[in-house]
Amino acid sequence: MGATIIIKNGRCMTMENKNEKDWIAIEGEEIIALGNKDEYEAFVDRNTIVLDAKGNTVLPGFIDSHFHVIQTALDSVSLDLSGAKTYEELGEIIRDACKQYTKGYIRGIHISEEQFKEKRFPDRAILDKYCSDVPVVLNSMEYQVSMLNTYALLYFKIPFTAEGVELDEKQMPTGIFRKQANAILRKNILNGIPDSERREATTKVMADILMNGITTVNAMEGGFMYSDKDADFLHEYGNEFPIDIVLFYQTMDIEKIKAMNLKRVGGCFYIDGTFRARTAALSFEYADFPGTMGSLRMTQGELNDFVLKCYKNGLQLALYTIGDRAIELALKAHENAYYQTGITGLRHRLEHVELATKEQIIRAKKLGIVFSMRPSYETYWGGPDKMYAQRLGDNYTRTNPFKSIVNAGVTICGGSDSNVTEPRPLLGIHSAVNHPVEKHRVGIYEAIKMYTYNGAYAVFQEDRKGTLTPGKLADVVILDDDIMSVDHSKIKGIKVNATIKSGEILFSNLK
Ligand SMILES: [Zn+2]
Repeated sequence: MGATIIIKNGRCMTMENKNEKDWIAIEGEEIIALGNKDEYEAFVDRNTIVLDAKGNTVLPGFIDSHFHVIQTALDSVSLDLSGAKTYEELGEIIRDACKQYTKGYIRGIHISEEQFKEKRFPDRAILDKYCSDVPVVLNSMEYQVSMLNTYALLYFKIPFTAEGVELDEKQMPTGIFRKQANAILRKNILNGIPDSERREATTKVMADILMNGITTVNAMEGGFMYSDKDADFLHEYGNEFPIDIVLFYQTMDIEKIKAMNLKRVGGCFYIDGTFRARTAALSFEYADFPGTMGSLRMTQGELNDFVLKCYKNGLQLALYTIGDRAIELALKAHENAYYQTGITGLRHRLEHVELATKEQIIRAKKLGIVFSMRPSYETYWGGPDKMYAQRLGDNYTRTNPFKSIVNAGVTICGGSDSNVTEPRPLLGIHSAVNHPVEKHRVGIYEAIKMYTYNGAYAVFQEDRKGTLTPGKLADVVILDDDIMSVDHSKIKGIKVNATIKSGEILFSNLK
């Protein structure tokens, strides 16, 4: 019997009981056999495509467990302003974009206060200097803050009475929006996009992330800070794309979820905010802003009601929690729902969950809760001299304690949080292995598991994905190195040589 594809000369890590094989045979959309040495020859006929992995690692296709698909798509057509060091530099980029402007508005992304010497977001007076005749909207790194020029302020018609509109001493808006005002603005922008644009941009993003070895994404769409139109679009057309899209609808409308036949709800369903904006809910004060401990977006009673409703409807629930005080609120709501219903096995998830305490990790294990985490945050923000340390002081040593979580038996699934950070699983694996705080580091195998088997488990797909096993989908990546033997500091430099999704070679650099 001939296979459609053979991958030979690989270090094929099955991610099942640490088994490794030399080759994989694929027929149609499934893996049909694995083995050693040249036994694969029995599967080769004249139609078989034989790929030579040249001794490099072969893995199950990567699963990115937290991905904002439409936002990422939109970002691919926005100005990246993270490199500007002064208002002047920022202004020049915007001025150039204004000259080429044809329709809509100019959107800039990835701004942080720290990048400017003023340590402040630019307001409309600054933006107007460079562009006053076209709407300009800029977003902070994590989209919690928007900056508008005067034209955009009028164009997007956000009521100045909305919570989060920053006012100057004359009670006029400065053009800086936070909180509710920011959420309304984002929704207005996203609602204004036609589906044709969503389709075009999503197609481009899918092609990009196939090059990073991603074969499944968990799409966090809709709700507060997003647009329901994005979620509705992916629900209707998600299967047109080559990568599997598992939709997490960020809504509290359980009836709608049931009517859509979805098995899960939530995602970036905010229980708190971010460290950067000092809105993540902590049990201690922010080191660089004493008196502030962040805030919770729901009361215990409100969250208890919602979580209980999810249990009763048999829905898997994903809640966004970053600070330990938000994690506490979520765990209490789960403990309450479990106490009231006795229902288990829904694999509820906490998203991000950056500051769990040892005691909270143990309680999460008891509840069967999955931690959906973003290891690459540690590369971007971890260690003694980056954002975590600025905001949290010495408590930066407590963030993302992967090792304790794994040791406690809690499943971690890895994701990028694209569009916030780069959707590159190998960077995530690198970050989990090279955590700046040594005691939180995990081994390479455990880190790979976060992006393969655990990712499948976290959406009930482990019977079809997550390991290289006969009978499972042929979602396979071939790397350009042997990940188990490279220096740990070089993992992030490894590239994907080929990506196979359901038995189709969708990306290949193999020579
Ligand atoms: Zn998110």
